[in-house]
Amino acid sequence: MNVDYAICGTRNSIIGLPKGLEILAKGGSALDAVEESIKLIENNPFDITVGFNGFPNLMGIVELDASIMEGKTRKAGAVAAVKNYRNPISIARKVMELTPHAMLVGDGAERFAKALGFQEEEILDELGIRNYHNIMEGKSLDIPPEAQKLVRELFMHFDVHLKEVMEEYPVKEWYRKLSFDKHGTTNVIALDQDGELATGVSTSGLAMKFPGRVGDSPIFGAGIYCSSKVGSACTGTGELAIRLCTSRMVVERVHQKIAIEKAAEMGILELKDLNEEGVLHILSMDKSGKCVGVTNKSGLFHYYADSTSEGPVKKASTYIGL
Ligand code: ASP
Repeated sequence: MNVDYAICGTRNSIIGLPKGLEILAKGGSALDAVEESIKLIENNPFDITVGFNGFPNLMGIVELDASIMEGKTRKAGAVAAVKNYRNPISIARKVMELTPHAMLVGDGAERFAKALGFQEEEILDELGIRNYHNIMEGKSLDIPPEAQKLVRELFMHFDVHLKEVMEEYPVKEWYRKLSFDKHGTTNVIALDQDGELATGVSTSGLAMKFPGRVGDSPIFGAGIYCSSKVGSACTGTGELAIRLCTSRMVVERVHQKIAIEKAAEMGILELKDLNEEGVLHILSMDKSGKCVGVTNKSGLFHYYADSTSEGPVKKASTYIGL
């Protein structure tokens, strides 16, 4: 492949990629292209898995995770379980650029955002609240009837009921099913005209997660990684990517001269070691602009655009049945 610049993203990234492409076409950096693309996705009120109107946790509160990583320097910034800010990707970038740290969580991340002048706001509007009630009533997620009772009880009295509910019901099973049906993190990887790569990820995480649950998206090595040669990121059941360190493994395989398609396929095949239900989609792009999407769920796709294309093109992700 011979492209001047390129950008790719998961299926919900289409709303942001044209902006990223425009930045790259003007000679902007991969980091800017990633951040600006993801901001648009976070601001989209109809995307219920990222940023504004993201899936709330069990208590009805939206807690967002996001991360960004620069390939050349491997500088990285992440935030996790952040409430009341719609653009965690920008806060993550500030963590990377301004602090001596790689990750800030919860209250600390919110205080940092406030101190830098990010606007604190309610990030569920009427649509988001309706969506939450649909989740509670089992309408938008396939929740078994007994779990609907659990959801309501936990919502009202999490501290009182959690122990009893976990003893009485197969809570882990329900969550496995949930994560198979409902996932929607955004991943964006960009290659700029200087040949530099950057990767970014943003999500509200698993619907109805426990308060404080952090997925793979802000964890370097798990849901995101980027070197000067290749960027990689995941969507799906975050716990699986955390346990397998999926993103770093894909990058490492490419460093070991394994072809990028194969490197990502091996990431999916590794799920077999865990022998557990769950879905994973791996998006990877190398410094030649070669991009692959590989998954264990059929029908998934991603978008790709480069200096030779008019705009993002939908590409089927390679399905590997396990
Ligand atoms: N990977 C995300 C998480 O576990 C969720 C998703 O992609 O749907 O938080």
